[in-house]
Amino acid sequence: MLLKDIPGLYEEKKHLLDSVRRGRNSHAQLFHGRSGTASFALALAYAQYLACENPGEDDSCGECGSCKQFEKLSYPDLHFSFPFARVAGAPTNLNCDFFLKDWLHFISERPIFELGDWLSNLEVSNKQAQINVHESSRIIQKLNLKSYAGKAKFLIIYLPEYLHPSAANKLLKTLEEPSGDSIILLISEDPEKLLQTITSRCQKLYIPRPKESELIDYLEARGLSRESAQNAASVAEGNLVHALKIAEDSERYLQYGALFQNWMRGCYSAKVQEIFAFVDEFNALDKESQKEALRFFLQTLQIALGAKVKSEKALHPIYQKLAFKLDGFASVLHLKNASMALEVLDKAIYDISRNGNVKIIISDASFKFSNLLRIKAA
Ligand SMILES: [Zn+2]
Repeated sequence: MLLKDIPGLYEEKKHLLDSVRRGRNSHAQLFHGRSGTASFALALAYAQYLACENPGEDDSCGECGSCKQFEKLSYPDLHFSFPFARVAGAPTNLNCDFFLKDWLHFISERPIFELGDWLSNLEVSNKQAQINVHESSRIIQKLNLKSYAGKAKFLIIYLPEYLHPSAANKLLKTLEEPSGDSIILLISEDPEKLLQTITSRCQKLYIPRPKESELIDYLEARGLSRESAQNAASVAEGNLVHALKIAEDSERYLQYGALFQNWMRGCYSAKVQEIFAFVDEFNALDKESQKEALRFFLQTLQIALGAKVKSEKALHPIYQKLAFKLDGFASVLHLKNASMALEVLDKAIYDISRNGNVKIIISDASFKFSNLLRIKAA
């Protein structure tokens, strides 16, 4: 992957290239920022640049042997570590080797992704993912091997916050004094959760979410029309992964919009039949769609609140397509019940991701909505 193929992040690329030119790039680097950025793809392109036999001023050559191997993810000194969950038939000392073929296929198809995408690809969305101590042993072993290419060895650890504490402790020495010319790149969405002894050993680079205009460019470059790119970018809150999903499947979001409308109508009028019809319809969605729909509801609620606070502000285009009148909905919300409504949705998302009973969770949320929608503003 070339640096120029990474959307946006111009300052960050420049910073990395400068540090290489000045010989200031550390053997352990931490790219951190919220989910939905291109930080993993950036780490991959950066490693390729460092391995390139004929690097240019601002990018890899894309043609040398190393670049060709990076493109096929077959560079022999490129290693990955990532969260996983136990699957049927896995050995007791399970580590990333077991998933490597899946992983390489997955990242070659979409180098910009979120953990949920990877876990649902493994069909383990419902399980607790982690990077275990067996994986730490594997990493140490890999980095102790002699370099095949006679150059640096690369290890990209995706989401080190998922390292089990014993696995993290085991890696400390390797991070401090990596063997040979190893370069370790950590991609974190939650660096607060990392051991301070790990973060203190790393050079840090913050990876921001892209601007709306960069999101639109990215979507258009993926072959989407300007209109659907604009619509998706307007609701994706700078998340590249969500923006692409929304743009590729705007029908699904329209369906979520209609669902939310029916739900809120049922709750507002306290019609039990309508509420239960919604609960059944929602329950019929698969788990990932349920979480996605709830996140969309949460966002809709926030936008409805924003629309009320700044009533002159034009509504986002995707909402203009919904039959659902956000301004009407916003008129029953005020400071007090709005924060309660956000809490109800937050809790439902949390409970569903903890594998609670969906019917009970959504029925409970419905009755809470019924009550809070009828609280009058003070
Ligand atoms: Zn090259």
